[in-house]
Amino acid sequence: MEIFYRSLADIKWEKSTKARVASGANPKTEWKHLIDNKICGSEGVSVGYGKIPIGEYLPLHTHTPQEIYFVTKGTGILSMDGDKTQNLGSGDTVYIPGKKRHGITNTGNVDFEYLFIFMVNNWSDVKYDFQ
Ligand SMILES: [Zn+2]
Repeated sequence: MEIFYRSLADIKWEKSTKARVASGANPKTEWKHLIDNKICGSEGVSVGYGKIPIGEYLPLHTHTPQEIYFVTKGTGILSMDGDKTQNLGSGDTVYIPGKKRHGITNTGNVDFEYLFIFMVNNWSDVKYDFQ
């Protein structure tokens, strides 16, 4: 397999489908799909770059696979299990065990941006439950 490279600037922002919004996703959050099996043939890892605009939030949700966040820009509040919270800023890392409820609210005056990493072949295999 070849080493894969792509510049963040060359990847288009994506938004939730109507069906995903109907299931509880915020239509204003966006992401860039960086690495997964469908993109570059990688196995067991999927990486995306998320953006939560000023004043917006990533709704509370769960999924079976564990997840890692790495904050690259902005400030926000991480909601954990629906009651506990943690302030987040650039450079912060978060590990979320599978099935743990979590969400992020942008509390700053710039977009909140972060890397999200799953140990799955393809991000499309991760089923989000926005309950
Ligand atoms: Zn998540």
